[in-house]
Amino acid sequence: MQKLPSTYSSERNIPTDVFLYNDPSAKTLVVEEIASHIRGLFPGMKVEVRRDFVSHHYDGSIEELAEKIARTKVRNISDPFESFDPLLGEMKFEEGLIAEPEKGTSGILYDAVRLHLVLREMIPEEELSLRAVHAAFTSRLFGTFDDADRRYHARVILCGYPSIISTSGIVEAPAKPREYYLMRQKLRALGEDVPAEVLKEQIQGRFLDYDDPRMTEVMKGYSLQALFYAITHEPFCEDPECRLYNSHWQEEVLASQLGDKEFCDEHASMIRRISDQ
Ligand SMILES: [Zn+2]
Repeated sequence: MQKLPSTYSSERNIPTDVFLYNDPSAKTLVVEEIASHIRGLFPGMKVEVRRDFVSHHYDGSIEELAEKIARTKVRNISDPFESFDPLLGEMKFEEGLIAEPEKGTSGILYDAVRLHLVLREMIPEEELSLRAVHAAFTSRLFGTFDDADRRYHARVILCGYPSIISTSGIVEAPAKPREYYLMRQKLRALGEDVPAEVLKEQIQGRFLDYDDPRMTEVMKGYSLQALFYAITHEPFCEDPECRLYNSHWQEEVLASQLGDKEFCDEHASMIRRISDQ
């Protein structure tokens, strides 16, 4: 196993407050349980559960915000981000989602950084501090453009102030077991267009699905990645058994978040040091 870079062991900033924002469309996400988990690990931190990020922070014009969010949509996944004027229907869709976040969405891809900046503007100055972690769950699927292969990739988490964590990204971003894609390819070659649901049945249990009963447990790890981003500026770990592991495959997500071990030795001792302070 790769040796951990020494940066992991330096706690540069210990947050005092953690704010967790609910995604009401994710039926199996129990944010209060995630808060209890963080309180257990870091008894010195105040952890507060809030409703969804936009409803909590925003009291301006819904039309204006809908337009801003619609502008962060990715039009073509193989092109770098380009600004465009959203269509009326797109803005109406965003208005609906702002008013009723419990409806949720998963089919649209947003540019992660731009979406994050729209949300960041809403944090009041007194809460925009390195000592305050904001982890916002959202149903919106977001991604970043990768210059290496010239396309957008969906992501589960984008760390920052706030960190955003996608409940659809956790389903769509990490790759499913290889058989899934082989099966799909094979059926397509035969000219059969098999619905995703049928293919999913073949790999049942080996990936996290929408409204999966394991959603809360898995999201505990991603919330900690947001927290570690604030502490060390390095949210991820190289150890595939550690909850801070940056999983690229669904099976890695399940192994790192649901395995017997919670943290690698280095992160476990860092958590102990912080909680003893
Ligand atoms: Zn670790």
